[in-house]
Amino acid sequence: MAACLILMSGAAVAEPLTLAGDFTQGGLVVGSAGPGSRISLDGRSVPMTPDGKFLIGFGRDAAKQSTLTVTDVQGGVETRLLNVEPRTYKVQRIDGLPSRKVTPKPEDLARIKFDNAGIGKARASILVKAHFSSGFVWPVKGPISGVYGSQRILNGKPKNPHNGTDIAAVEGTPIVAPADGVVALVVEDMFYTGMTVMLDHGLGLTSVYAHMSEIQVDEGAVVKKGEAIGRVGKTGRVTGAHLHWGVTLGRTHLDPELLLD
Ligand SMILES: [Zn+2]
Repeated sequence: MAACLILMSGAAVAEPLTLAGDFTQGGLVVGSAGPGSRISLDGRSVPMTPDGKFLIGFGRDAAKQSTLTVTDVQGGVETRLLNVEPRTYKVQRIDGLPSRKVTPKPEDLARIKFDNAGIGKARASILVKAHFSSGFVWPVKGPISGVYGSQRILNGKPKNPHNGTDIAAVEGTPIVAPADGVVALVVEDMFYTGMTVMLDHGLGLTSVYAHMSEIQVDEGAVVKKGEAIGRVGKTGRVTGAHLHWGVTLGRTHLDPELLLD
């Protein structure tokens, strides 16, 4: 799957650059390079832990190639051209949603803006800690009722692509943290996502748990992989009980299923 091409080097980097993960749209790659190196992906700066770990991700519509540049503390440079596997996405039609949740009323817009600001703030934080190194498990086990990337047609109206994985489960089913992290956001009632929790897994990697019926963690708490964070519900924009699980690196939505061990 990994396809890299070493393009050029002036002075070579002193410590080897390693990359492991999914070089595909929606995929996450964990990298390692000399501590203190400057990393950039397509010209954008990428944060690193003190011991040299970093994360790069490819969005739903990522270009076929990305350029990764590592500049180490001695000035050595390595540039790699990464081939990113394209995917095809499904179309999912969902009918029977309350019309106000598909076409919000003017009085809903302030609340949606407020919700988005909270989510945006959590995603913008860079926690320089490799909680993600715990690896990922399913937060809930159940049939997949919505996959990453699908084009959504809600009550007949084309909407944004689905940016996570929907897992169907009966109301009250426990939800666990799929990986180590810090609780970044707890909101009782968001317009679209209802009762919502966000976890911060470090270096800009966050995850969201939506439509819950109960929340069992507080903001700022450190959670371990497998620890209960709440219960499945049907709050927000839903037609039935399920968990919407989303994973985002910075502002790039990734495919949660690709993270699983
Ligand atoms: Zn969903």
